[in-house]
Amino acid sequence: MIKFLDLKAINASFEPELSQAVQRVVSSGWYLLGEEVQAFEKEYAEFIGCKHCIGVANGLDALRLILKAYIELGIMEEGDEIIVPANTYIASILAITDNRLIPVLVEPDIYTYNIDPLKIEEKITDKTRGIMIVHLYGQNAMHPEIHRLVDKYNLKLIEDNAQAQGCYYGDKRTGSLGHAAGHSFYPGKNLGALGDAGAVTTNDDSLADVIRALGNYGSQEKYHNLYKGLNSRLDEIQAAVLRVKLKRLDVDNLRRSEIAHYYIKNIQNSKIILPTADCRLLTADCELPTADFLSHVWHLFVIRADDRDSLQAWLTENNIQTMIHYPIPPHKQEAYSGWNHPSLPITEQIHREVLSIPIGTVLTNEEVKTIVNACNNF
Ligand SMILES: *Cc1c(COP(=O)(O)O)cnc(C)c1O
Repeated sequence: MIKFLDLKAINASFEPELSQAVQRVVSSGWYLLGEEVQAFEKEYAEFIGCKHCIGVANGLDALRLILKAYIELGIMEEGDEIIVPANTYIASILAITDNRLIPVLVEPDIYTYNIDPLKIEEKITDKTRGIMIVHLYGQNAMHPEIHRLVDKYNLKLIEDNAQAQGCYYGDKRTGSLGHAAGHSFYPGKNLGALGDAGAVTTNDDSLADVIRALGNYGSQEKYHNLYKGLNSRLDEIQAAVLRVKLKRLDVDNLRRSEIAHYYIKNIQNSKIILPTADCRLLTADCELPTADFLSHVWHLFVIRADDRDSLQAWLTENNIQTMIHYPIPPHKQEAYSGWNHPSLPITEQIHREVLSIPIGTVLTNEEVKTIVNACNNF
């Protein structure tokens, strides 16, 4: 069986450094808000190209805390609207509704699966305070049109960078493109911890201060609570693990890219639609600063088929494990049944047709070929 993602093998490929890092923390006697977190925050801020990095408990909290901080700073208030792609993982939307802000869903581009930049402006009202873009599946979602709208309407640009650590937009990394970004280090992400972990990056000093306090009970100084905060901290063990894995992230992403390009070149089946590696081909008036095939870090390799379920069954028969990201769009979730949202046909089509095939750093060339053959014989 070719596993969808062999986490055990991935983490074994970082040994013995990984276990040594964990052991170092275990014997240090210090488990929260210590040197490892401080060092990781510095290293990750440098990697992303931002002034501040604040370690938090997970990716959802990173996004929640950004919005909560904007509320504390008086920049947003209950009932304000945040533009967000309809085609995303539920966490992007949960972060908004958890803060009693209103998500305004925008359809994706059918080629990139990311928010369609040309459908944003029609959704902007006098309540709009921000745009949250999601670099879905590891592909940059930033676009000059989004920059234009953020400037024109004086909006906050928040990036959900949970799936795109290491990705570039021109010569900048995603996570440094807007006012603040949320990152997830869930074990299966391109940079994965050994449990839950996340971070916020930003260049905004006051936002960084408020987020750091909010994640620590709302306090900057022990037992003095400025805000009604929460407990959302990155712990020392996860930070030590992430420091080891961060060093290899660019190399790992290149291996993903190599596999992705092999798939794109060699999967040839009229029943299968492949991802488009380069969004510039599809939005003619979009000009990126530099050519960059690293504008996709291939967190997932997502193909589409009319008859997705048969394709999945066929691959399973051929001992290839696949997954669906995601089977139900957020606006169709029971949690949001109160919305009665009008139909979002492109989002719904994507959720009906997508299938993620294995991609990752421990997949062998032999396995990649097996997967290609199985797709071609469908
Ligand atoms: C994983 C993910 C999150 C949430 O991250 P957690 O660490 O699991 O809380 C948010 N947004 C997107 C797009 C994700 O893929």
